Amino acid sequence: MFDSLTKKLNETFKKLRGRGKLSEDEVKDGLKEIRRILLAADVHYSVVKKFINGVEGKAVGEEVLESLSPGEQIIKIVRSELEEILGGDQAELDLGAANPLPVMLVGLQGTGKTTTCGKLANYYSKDGKKPLLYSADYKRPAAREQLQQIADGNDFNYYKHQYDDPRQDLEELRQHARRGGMNPLIIDTAGRLNIDEPMLDEISDFTQILPEMKVLLVIDGMMGQEALNVADDFAGSVELDGLVLTKMEGDARGGAAISAREVTGVPILFIGTGEKIDDLQPFYPERMASRILGMGDVFSLIEEAEEAADEKQQQEMQQRFMEGEITMEDLDKQFDQLKNMGPLEGILEKLPGGFQLKDQLQQSDMSPRDIDRMQAIIRSMTPQERRNPEIIDGSRRRRIAEGSGTSRQMVNKLLKQFNMMKKMMEKLRNNQGMVQKMASQMGLGGAGGIPGL
Ligand code: GDP
Ligand code: MG
Repeated sequence: MFDSLTKKLNETFKKLRGRGKLSEDEVKDGLKEIRRILLAADVHYSVVKKFINGVEGKAVGEEVLESLSPGEQIIKIVRSELEEILGGDQAELDLGAANPLPVMLVGLQGTGKTTTCGKLANYYSKDGKKPLLYSADYKRPAAREQLQQIADGNDFNYYKHQYDDPRQDLEELRQHARRGGMNPLIIDTAGRLNIDEPMLDEISDFTQILPEMKVLLVIDGMMGQEALNVADDFAGSVELDGLVLTKMEGDARGGAAISAREVTGVPILFIGTGEKIDDLQPFYPERMASRILGMGDVFSLIEEAEEAADEKQQQEMQQRFMEGEITMEDLDKQFDQLKNMGPLEGILEKLPGGFQLKDQLQQSDMSPRDIDRMQAIIRSMTPQERRNPEIIDGSRRRRIAEGSGTSRQMVNKLLKQFNMMKKMMEKLRNNQGMVQKMASQMGLGGAGGIPGL
């Protein structure tokens, strides 16, 4: 998500860590570098200023400079300041605040409002809630159809409008939800290319009719500073309750997203990380800070792994993983699980130091299609070959290539990658101890672990 930013920050951290004692000047130089990196990553200048001042105030104190590992101390300070900038504690919608709680999504056209409505319905459904979807865009039938299709395709409740103006439907909508025991009430709105009066009037009318309404602004994470300006303008005209940042799977302009909360004063509630219905995550400032700083987001990873994995299989595999006895069969199963968990990049970026592995991954070009091919190759091997890939000589390679409809080069590549994976695992295994320590501290137990990548 924040790849290049993470990488650069880590280079600076390395320098700070590498020294025993730090002078005040050295700290200041380090901070100057961090400042430059943040600005280059498109973090808003006012946010950078506040951040650097915050860190500097705490970092140049005698206690830090006199401590045994001032570099570590400073990185800790950087982390906690970043967490503050991102919002401190996690913010959540309280569905109990009204029956039902209307949640309206506003924002410019194309930012992801309609998609996010569906994702939110999915998120709350999974949580045992019974959401109701409704589109207040009465001008474009296609916009309503888009939402209705999402609702129909996923078995979410959808309210069909009855009048010509959403203002007339809103009361009825609330009653309908109440009768059906539905909550939250997720309201999609028409976007515009620019913020204009009619849009703001509409938002304000809607919130007057349903005063318990929570208004979430959807911002496009790929828009960079421009998104921030829009968010700032919105926040100045409408009372916002939360932000949703979409398209956050890309690396492009992550800095703007970092600044969103600070610039608007409105908490980030969710982030969207793809076009699919499952690509929505609640926003945790603490986890995000770790991720940006390359310290990984192990908790999210554990949660995702638990959702995707067959626990017993996972435990067995982890056992072998710990013993360094990985086979092609494991790799095959692992590929299945990876496919369940979504893109590999997403997994690696949540591991401590995973951003480095991501580079290696990119060099090894493991796309989903590659994964399918590799599985075909593995499945063309005999059980013996899968367990002892070293026996796969030239003639076996030819046979496997033919059987899997691939080429000998591809078989060679897989075998090479298998060896590389083994090496990567060794590296990860060194992190594993830390991961488990953190997990058990959080009461997550050792069994979940990270998937045996
Ligand atoms: P709206 O005009 O605000 O309602 O925007 P839509 O919900 O129609 O989304 C516009 C486009 O953005 C669609 O192609 C969506 O699939 C895409 N989109 C929405 N959220 C995300 C996201 O988190 N990541 C990515 N990559 N695309 C997204
Ligand atoms: Mg829309």
